[in-house]
Amino acid sequence: MTEMLFRSDPYARETIGTVVAHTAEGGIVLDATIFYPQGGGQPGDSGALHWRDQILRIATTLKGEGDQIVLVPAEPAGLPPVGTALRQALDWERRFRHMRVHTGLHLLSVAIPLPVSGGAISSEKGRLDFDMPEAPEDKEALEAALQALIDRDLPVTEDWITDAELDANPGLVKTMSVAPPKGQGRVRLVRIGQGAAQIDLQPCGGTHVATTGEIGRIRIGKIEKKGARNRRVNMHLVD
Ligand SMILES: [Zn+2]
Repeated sequence: MTEMLFRSDPYARETIGTVVAHTAEGGIVLDATIFYPQGGGQPGDSGALHWRDQILRIATTLKGEGDQIVLVPAEPAGLPPVGTALRQALDWERRFRHMRVHTGLHLLSVAIPLPVSGGAISSEKGRLDFDMPEAPEDKEALEAALQALIDRDLPVTEDWITDAELDANPGLVKTMSVAPPKGQGRVRLVRIGQGAAQIDLQPCGGTHVATTGEIGRIRIGKIEKKGARNRRVNMHLVD
């Protein structure tokens, strides 16, 4: 399996690593990586690998077999051989924007406390699909409420909980905005705010900013009707 360094330090922009395998499709598996694999609506990371005098651009990152993470080269160039020690560097500007949008969507689900049926993230904007028969009446008020949550600059932290702890504390699931997946042994929870100021707790494997103020200025975009009971709410980064 690949050690997921983006979990322990989402702010790591570059680090070292060792090639442990190539995939049949021409991907590269490292022993440990800061590259986030596409999932949970968040795109896979791009960047580059550096070894000796060589540079290989990475176009995206995907989940592979088992717990492998696969770095996908931008062009079919020579791969670093298995065993190569190298330096891995993220396209940080893009990833940090994913972190801002992603954390902003957690707050959007606080501003609109309704069930979420889907979502997607890019470096410009994100969207959530809500089980919401009627569109919000006042888009400007929604935007102001979301910006106010961001501007509280609340800490974003993580906790891990085991299936056994979840079973022993059914009330905990009620405090979560999304039910956690079961049967994985343990689940990562992302918390926004602490103690009495906690405003969100949900299972999530993505990458987040450390405090909500880092999201910066946002704007609510189009609110689209997607079926009888669903509304798609778009949120843009302003800068
Ligand atoms: Zn998340």
